[in-house]
Amino acid sequence: MNSNYTPSYEEMVEFYQELADKNEDVLLLNMGDSDYGLPIYLCLLNVPNDSLKALESARTNTTLLINNAIHPGEPCGVNASMQVASSFANEMPPESKVNFPITAIITAYNVGGMKNRGSFSRANQNGPEEHGFRGNAQNLDLNRDFIKMDSKNMFTFATIFQALDPDIFVDTHTSNGADYQYTMTYIAPIKEKLAPSIKSIIYDDLIPHLHENMPKKWNYDLVTYVNLRGQTLDDGIVDYNATPRYSMGYADLFNCISFTTETHMLKPFDERVRSTYAFLLEVIGYAMNHQDKIEKARAEAFKFDQNSTSYPSNFQADTVPDSILFKGYEWKFIESMLTDEKRLKYYQDKPFEKYIPHYKNFHPTDTLTIPSYFIVQRQEVDVIECLKANGIDIELVKKDSLLKVKNNKILDYSTTSKPYEGHYLHSNIKVVHEETELKLKKGDVLVSTNQLKRNFITHVLSANFRDSYFAWNFFDSYLQQKEYFSPYVFEEIAVDLLKNDDALRKKYQAEFDTEDDTSRWEQLYFIYKNSPYYEPTHNVLPIYFVD
Ligand SMILES: [Zn+2]
Repeated sequence: MNSNYTPSYEEMVEFYQELADKNEDVLLLNMGDSDYGLPIYLCLLNVPNDSLKALESARTNTTLLINNAIHPGEPCGVNASMQVASSFANEMPPESKVNFPITAIITAYNVGGMKNRGSFSRANQNGPEEHGFRGNAQNLDLNRDFIKMDSKNMFTFATIFQALDPDIFVDTHTSNGADYQYTMTYIAPIKEKLAPSIKSIIYDDLIPHLHENMPKKWNYDLVTYVNLRGQTLDDGIVDYNATPRYSMGYADLFNCISFTTETHMLKPFDERVRSTYAFLLEVIGYAMNHQDKIEKARAEAFKFDQNSTSYPSNFQADTVPDSILFKGYEWKFIESMLTDEKRLKYYQDKPFEKYIPHYKNFHPTDTLTIPSYFIVQRQEVDVIECLKANGIDIELVKKDSLLKVKNNKILDYSTTSKPYEGHYLHSNIKVVHEETELKLKKGDVLVSTNQLKRNFITHVLSANFRDSYFAWNFFDSYLQQKEYFSPYVFEEIAVDLLKNDDALRKKYQAEFDTEDDTSRWEQLYFIYKNSPYYEPTHNVLPIYFVD
């Protein structure tokens, strides 16, 4: 095959179908729809030749899930995974297959993007000659869709992920950004958010294993993802905190050991494919030899979750860097050929190796308390559907009743001024929890946190989390006040309220204590907001919890 070629969707499916037809222990499953209308296929290696038994076997044994072509312009993983499947089926002797982890390959996740094939959408990339496009059929970047679930693709992904319960997850990409010597870079989850056993297996075992074997066996030096802090490497690199909107951040919520591979865009395509293949084989190799350790680490992580009373969240990078020995290329700012501005130029003939600042430590800026259970009101059908799709056990309230709970009242937030992935994402969310008596109605949903997936539950349902359902606009209707007042009518009422309510009067006097320029409207609205006339549901989300 031409080394600068990546297959079309049809060619890829045909390849896997043929492999599955010829091999008892290779299975190709149609796992569900994509927005485009064509299915998302999952290829399973080293499984019984029966779909239910194969998935059951994946859940109970050590399983690696590989996701490809979420960005179809970055198809190294599509080619590399075909080679992994082919090596397994055609080259591996049966006795070596015994410890081979079950390897599940999402052959191409963004089917619509893959069908939108061309040669120009990756302006800065060195091949392949034709490739797919980043946006899916809905023009969504699917690698921001793991919580909000706007695409059918994501419902299919959740089906796959929950059916497999993978121990390790790798999402394959090609980078944008700076020029440097490395062909392969990778993102690991920031250590501060991980359960101790998962942190240990990633940082003490797997990363050292990869850093040792990638150069030694494959001749690829490895470095963490090059996420520049400023314009050049002199300002250092910051580790990438993939929150749950991203595939690996989603996997992290289930104590799955996650990585993203990012090959360098300017390296030839065949080298990018080979380094992705090497990375996948090294992860598989580690899993082959450490199945018990992996299973134990995951079991311990779920126990750790169960014993935790809160999660640190909304991490930010520390401002004091560590340092990292880095293999880059000399650069200079030279005259631009087009404008009066200076431009950055790298010199590939002048490689260097030097220490640069590395911002790898993070600290939480929020804490999410884990309640004993959440209540989601029945009208929130989209939220309930998302919870179910992610394998969350829920219980329906059987009859109307009263319950002492805490609410989620939004005090403040910011919102993007332009659409982001089909949403106006909220951030800087301030929420207060008031004790209240809730009228539970038949059909409301109780979500106990006494289940393995309490990490996911707590993150999506805690309003102040960066990627919560609130942040992703599921509850925007509750942010709008529905009733107001006419000042000419309300003024008499306001005067009466101040006369008869000492507490309100004091509050009012404290607020408007000087001869300042507050308007009559502001004063009346203050009295209104602190009176029984103001709707108690304004800014109160349809999510409650019991400690
Ligand atoms: Zn990408």
